[in-house]
Amino acid sequence: MESIAARTLILAFIMLVSLVACQLGEPAITPAPTHGASHPFDVAWDDRAIFREGLIESEQEALGRLPGASVYRIDFQIADDLFLLEGHEQVRYTNQEDEPLHDIYFRLFSNTAGGKTTVSALQVDDQEVEPVYEFEDSALRVPLPVALQPGEQAVIQMDFEVQVAREMAGNYGLFGYFEGVLVLDEFYPVIPAYDDEGWNVEVPPPNADVTHFDASFYLVRVTAPDSLTVAASGVEVGREYKADTQILTFAAGPARDFYLAASEDYIVVSETVGETTINSYALSEWTAGAELALQFATNALRGFSKRFGDYPYTEFDIVSTPMQALGMEYPGIIAITLKEYDPEAEFSGVSSQVYLESTLAHEAAHQWFYNVVGNDQIDEPWLDEAVVQYATGLYYVDAYDEAAAQRYRESWYGRWDRVDRADVPIGLPAGEYTGKEYGAIVYGRGPLFITALAEAMGQETFDQFLRDYYQSNKWGIGTADAFRQLAEDHCQCDLTALFHEWVYQR
Ligand SMILES: [Zn+2]
Repeated sequence: MESIAARTLILAFIMLVSLVACQLGEPAITPAPTHGASHPFDVAWDDRAIFREGLIESEQEALGRLPGASVYRIDFQIADDLFLLEGHEQVRYTNQEDEPLHDIYFRLFSNTAGGKTTVSALQVDDQEVEPVYEFEDSALRVPLPVALQPGEQAVIQMDFEVQVAREMAGNYGLFGYFEGVLVLDEFYPVIPAYDDEGWNVEVPPPNADVTHFDASFYLVRVTAPDSLTVAASGVEVGREYKADTQILTFAAGPARDFYLAASEDYIVVSETVGETTINSYALSEWTAGAELALQFATNALRGFSKRFGDYPYTEFDIVSTPMQALGMEYPGIIAITLKEYDPEAEFSGVSSQVYLESTLAHEAAHQWFYNVVGNDQIDEPWLDEAVVQYATGLYYVDAYDEAAAQRYRESWYGRWDRVDRADVPIGLPAGEYTGKEYGAIVYGRGPLFITALAEAMGQETFDQFLRDYYQSNKWGIGTADAFRQLAEDHCQCDLTALFHEWVYQR
């Protein structure tokens, strides 16, 4: 995610000059593929063929790995007024831990984000089970009738009903129906990561990202009013029309989450980079913004693919949505605040277009660091956010030059200045920062640490290390300890003092 922050006017003017200098590509509209009408869920749990078209050729090998990844099948309907979702979910879960599990948790994030989710007809392997709501109803504990031993699998299914938020009431307004845009962040019951702490469940922190999930496979069928233009994670693998509704099926995976946004007023412009189609959605009055976002995304995918490894999917979507943050990352799709598409808008005196570019680069970089390489965003938020901020600097190097990057990097000091450059560690859990500290330290001091690390290791060694960190943790979870260990392996040096200075607990 990227939250609102002040930047300097000087930065704005310089960046605008570089903006004007960039040329817009020729967008081309690509029609969605149309497929047959057989029910997409009528396949074996281990049959991953439907996910193939969502991955570029060199990344399809992932389908043969991750044997224990959860498989979600979600079939839901969006009501005509867009304020109610009703659906059925089935998940095939594998115990990948080395101990038996007596419960499986699901997160119900809408319950702490202005909506309301209830679950009924809960079953584990066809046995009825009574759900237990915990953590201010943001979690659902499913007691297992029989303990699930390591390596064993269970199919959990349930009906769910979601009242969609009508006001921005938690988690930055990422979930709800506002200003003509339906934004479905974390709308379905989702299984959190299980690690050495056990199940990662807690009341969501108010200032930060709330998710920590394993890479999974998602097959999602949505029935929606046919007046809506729908964008979602993954690729569309089915489309039917009945009466006034459209029935769309999306396949996404491996992916760490599933997100959907829709509006009656969305236009879309598209561009192709390698095997990937980039679709940029915006409200019709902001078509110019959609084209700018498309150009920035093209730059980002080219640059980051070259540096870290290919963007894995055949589709990348950008949606412009109302929210109280600047942008938010999801697998294969990113959301950018509507305000950045308004050419007249300013953020603390800085033009919206300057923000649009840095937000776009930031959220695009999360495809590599958050989605493909996961991390615990609640306990170790710096591991994706600081790295992604640093990568945004690299975006400017690749799209323009070192001088443009240096101007962007001034924004890190601007953020850190908000706490008078206090040497608060960047490695704290999100909930241990005050609201002001979180953005200033993780997004400001964080990338300055990554810069110091690159200097200590030598730039070339650091670049190889970061690529290796990405490649060797693909579809897995990175940790601060593993990050440091791998960095030390690359530089053959002791980074203890540097990590103590910047990262660790006071
Ligand atoms: Zn972020």
